[in-house]
Amino acid sequence: MDLIYEKSVKGRRGFRYPQSDVPAKAAVDPQYARREEAPLPEVAELDAVRHYTRLSQLNFSIDTQFYPLGSCTMKYNPKFTEALAGLAGFRDLHPLLPQLPGGEQLTQGALQVLYELEQLMCAMTGFAHFTLQPLAGAHGELTGIMLMAAYHKAKGNSTKKYVIIPDSAHGTNPASAAIAGYETISIPSNKDGGMDLTALKAAVSPEVAGLMMTVPSTYGLFEPNISEIAQLIHSVDGIMYYDGANLNACLGKCRPGDIGFDCMHINTHKTFTTPHGGGGPGAGPVGVTEKLAKFLPISRVVKKTDGSFALDYDYPDSVGYIASFYGNFALLLRAYGYILMLGKEGLIETTNHAVLNANYIMARLKPYYKLCFDRLCMHESVFSAANQAARGVHAIDIAKFLIDQNIHPPTVYFPISVPEAIMIEPTESESKQTMDTFIDKMIEADQLSKTNPSAFKEFPKTTPIARPDETKAARDVHTSFFLSPGPGAKAADAA
Ligand SMILES: *Cc1c(COP(=O)(O)O)cnc(C)c1O
Repeated sequence: MDLIYEKSVKGRRGFRYPQSDVPAKAAVDPQYARREEAPLPEVAELDAVRHYTRLSQLNFSIDTQFYPLGSCTMKYNPKFTEALAGLAGFRDLHPLLPQLPGGEQLTQGALQVLYELEQLMCAMTGFAHFTLQPLAGAHGELTGIMLMAAYHKAKGNSTKKYVIIPDSAHGTNPASAAIAGYETISIPSNKDGGMDLTALKAAVSPEVAGLMMTVPSTYGLFEPNISEIAQLIHSVDGIMYYDGANLNACLGKCRPGDIGFDCMHINTHKTFTTPHGGGGPGAGPVGVTEKLAKFLPISRVVKKTDGSFALDYDYPDSVGYIASFYGNFALLLRAYGYILMLGKEGLIETTNHAVLNANYIMARLKPYYKLCFDRLCMHESVFSAANQAARGVHAIDIAKFLIDQNIHPPTVYFPISVPEAIMIEPTESESKQTMDTFIDKMIEADQLSKTNPSAFKEFPKTTPIARPDETKAARDVHTSFFLSPGPGAKAADAA
């Protein structure tokens, strides 16, 4: 693949309007001005357009391909929410406006969106209050653990030092607990994929600050013993934390606030149609019961007695600021629009489809791939490629095969407790036809692992880069990217 620098020919230019002849208001301070010309590639406009368009086509994207990546939940964002986020009245608001004299009046619409979104989240989850401020799922977790710590501090619970986390939790859970200063205790799973209650009972003590549970777990399973677990944790004044990143598995079926949890976060970018992936902005609203409410971060959006909305900073027990301004407003706006557009019935339908689709794929692949836990799954299922690995074809090889079939691979090697894990999440938005194509390709991979396992060493053949050294690629992005051009590199060059 050519780099744009390799296309550079001295003197080639694109076109733009003549420079403005209106004098600039202020010249750039010479100490900040560039002293040498920047070494930019010189290419014609058409070359630049083609270069970037071609690069964009090398990307796998939900707009072009099926994307069954597990533990990532919704991948498709309906376009109406983009239109909503682009409405000038919202888009052009300055984040400082509410704090300027008279600014609160000019931002009533935005404040109403935030206020009502909090109310909607409370209604969906059974919690008393929400903060919309956290900027990602993991940030929501950290906020939740900070609330947990504030609660124990206020109660004088000075012995608290452990957070219990089952081994089926998302990897961010122990990371968040550790960043907040807690030590973690890992609880193994039982043969059905639930938490081992004997091990849990042994771990519960007055030193336990709380328990973090990913629901559904990273095995895609619902924990049947939640009530008993909550009782155990509450018996030592611990806080029950619900990682609700993947709430689309449970909407309208059960509410975390009703089943013993004190605190949760939601990933709007996994359940409520806000863009996701590529390190872009997220939103991880956190809900709490009354017992944690006074510790919530500021600012809070309040509704005054005259019906107008305002920002309130007067919470003396608050953990303080956790984000600039009011969170990722444009994402929250999309989530608000999506929730209202679908309505209660629509959201429940979404969950029904997400779970049905995951179970359909699980049922059809079960004869070919080893299923970790043979139970109904929630929004995703976890297989192991152990049978195929015995023939020399590993999960990574199947992933590379799928790339050539124009399918984004499922998540592989996660959860880490499952050898050769393949975690499949179709989501609610895919048709049966698309899922059937994927299933057929997965079955084809299994057959090929029997008839010609060595063929897998060649995949992918269609991409410019075939099999980069994954460790090096992660650590040394710039050079390693070009070390291992695949058979597809020539084709991409010719294109
Ligand atoms: C994605 C995910 C997270 C982390 O969310 P980010 O927005 O990526 O920080 C946490 N828990 C679960 C279960 C997840 O799926």
